[in-house]
Amino acid sequence: MSRLVKQISSGYVKNRVLKLNVGFVLAHGPGYTHETEFDVPAVKVADDVDLTYLRGGLRLSRAKEGILVQGLLTIGVEDECTRCLEPVQREIALGLEELFAYPPSAIAEFSIGEDAMLDLAPLLREEVLIADTQGVLCRPDCKGLCVVCGANLNEGPHTCDDTVDPRLAKLRELLNDE
Ligand SMILES: [Zn+2]
Ligand SMILES: [Zn+2]
Repeated sequence: MSRLVKQISSGYVKNRVLKLNVGFVLAHGPGYTHETEFDVPAVKVADDVDLTYLRGGLRLSRAKEGILVQGLLTIGVEDECTRCLEPVQREIALGLEELFAYPPSAIAEFSIGEDAMLDLAPLLREEVLIADTQGVLCRPDCKGLCVVCGANLNEGPHTCDDTVDPRLAKLRELLNDE
């Protein structure tokens, strides 16, 4: 019960939704395919990766060495504007094509567990972390932060002397003294 409450209050569903029971696919011979659809709200993929949503379809194809996962997923991620550091909601299209080895193999990057569970979380985490976050802006004409006081210059007219951060002011005093 307390776990359920925690789940709801954090707004994220457990990444259990990313674990697929593929026993029935493994039971078939090579060539068998199964399509699966995702429409998942905010999900925690890993400690360092949250998605605001996950949608799309995947095809699971039974191969000799395991299961080939192919498809296109659309995911929502929250990044930071590179100029003003405000949160920015982004959508990333992920084209996936990855073999999950079965039986589990130490040399394969991704494996299906002995329990026939295929966990998409490690693959999604890797894809999100390599997705290009360079040049992400909250808006094309983001004015960024004041280099003197750190104020967000998008928030209207800015007169630096009125809004100097007391900590920075102190720092500047110290520097001037030297
Ligand atoms: Zn910005
Ligand atoms: Zn300023």
